[in-house]
Amino acid sequence: MQLDIKGLSKTYSNGVQAIKNVSLTLNEGMFGLLGPNGAGKSSLMRTIATLQEADEGSVHLDSIDVLKQKTAVRQLLGYLPQEFGVYPKISAELMLNHIAQLKGISSKTERKEMVGYLLNKVNLHKDKKKSLGTYSGGMKQRFGIAQALMGNPQLIIVDEPTAGLDPAERNRFYNLLSEIGENTIVILSTHIVEDINTLCSNFAIICQGEVLFTGTPDDAIRQLEGKIFAKTISKTDILRYREKYKVVSTQLKSGKLSIRILSESNPTEDFMAVTPDLEDVYFTRISSKLDINTL
Ligand code: ADP
Repeated sequence: MQLDIKGLSKTYSNGVQAIKNVSLTLNEGMFGLLGPNGAGKSSLMRTIATLQEADEGSVHLDSIDVLKQKTAVRQLLGYLPQEFGVYPKISAELMLNHIAQLKGISSKTERKEMVGYLLNKVNLHKDKKKSLGTYSGGMKQRFGIAQALMGNPQLIIVDEPTAGLDPAERNRFYNLLSEIGENTIVILSTHIVEDINTLCSNFAIICQGEVLFTGTPDDAIRQLEGKIFAKTISKTDILRYREKYKVVSTQLKSGKLSIRILSESNPTEDFMAVTPDLEDVYFTRISSKLDINTL
């Protein structure tokens, strides 16, 4: 399967252009949409999930015209929105059974099997009788994935799934997501670089509605090889360094500032050449759009 997005644009009625001429081709596997808050990730995902209209452009899932054949897309789609509300008084098991009915699984036995299988997969079997309102953030997200997987979707969209999870919950969630990928197109949006590193074979950086990079994490990093330099400076010198160099990121460490800069040639002032990482890629790309001083 392939998802082909061409020249997609969307402006909201308040004048905000959330998606600007976005073109992307996604194959099976985990594809990450990385960008800061307000970049347009949810807008793009909601459009692909047939929940809102685009102004221009096209989206095709193989031969299905996603923007027109909404029912056909919905039969193949699993979606976990950013704000995933649950009915607090209903148990996970009952809710999944209900979702299975909505997805058209009419046989009771088949539904029971599917619900049991998914509860096991997301490790909620022993909590299946508990009401959803008592679930922790991580459990809710795992339940969210279970409902998104109902009915064997070919296209799965998960919007900022790791936001708000603690490190252990995030790890469990990574393991769960990484099991899905193989024969399905999975789109995951995040502002967390580690999510891309851990999960995604391909990704795009999106900022102010525009795609700034698309490719593999390795390709992205390779493009910065030999161009990232680091140094620890005193906090008060930062303005001077910002004036002179393209500062990619700063990190406070025991009262001192560790800075990384982008430079085509070896800078003077005893900087040290360092191995670039995906965070350098991210900050380098988005700083071309945003004021780096505010990052
Ligand atoms: P992200 O998911 O990357 O945080 P969004 O797609 O939610 O970004 O938002 C992109 C931009 O569109 C933001 O400026 C946001 O305020 C605006 N926006 C999102 N949804 C709406 C809406 N329904 N009406 C008007 N503006 C919106």
